[in-house]
Amino acid sequence: MYALHHALDRHIPIWPALGKALRNTPGVYKVFTAIERRTKRELFGCRMCGQCALPVTAYACPMTCPKQLRNGPCGGVNPDGGCEVYPDQRCVWLMAYERAEADGKTSDMRRLQRPIDQRKWGQSSWVNYWMGEDEGLWTAEDVVMQPRLDHEPLLLDAQKP
Ligand code: SF4
Repeated sequence: MYALHHALDRHIPIWPALGKALRNTPGVYKVFTAIERRTKRELFGCRMCGQCALPVTAYACPMTCPKQLRNGPCGGVNPDGGCEVYPDQRCVWLMAYERAEADGKTSDMRRLQRPIDQRKWGQSSWVNYWMGEDEGLWTAEDVVMQPRLDHEPLLLDAQKP
């Protein structure tokens, strides 16, 4: 999947051109989106949020989380790794971490995902990607590790000198 994503990189001119052509022919766009929906649903359980996070979640779809959390687990994960809401379902963020670890991609787990544009549900995430409309969807991989230098440490009264 990583190799496929690399081959479909938006910086290869043919892909934005295809995205534009699809946008300009609504009937073909509809067919393309239906194929994407079917394929990604089978492979990843895709919900068609239109702004795909898969490349940085080790191809575990965060929208399959009942709470649709895009920045890690909720804290209610059961000791056996089961979901708090649906105990028979394994926490998608646990799966993401395990897969990332197996692929040497755990640094992706330190990215922050920005909120999605709710108006894009049902749209082709491939076309949105090729057209640059999901630019900045996630931060650099080391952002969680960066210390905040823009404020003084918060001290309780009893801790103040
Ligand atoms: S487009 Fe959205 S719902 Fe579909 S696989 Fe990607 S993140 Fe999940």
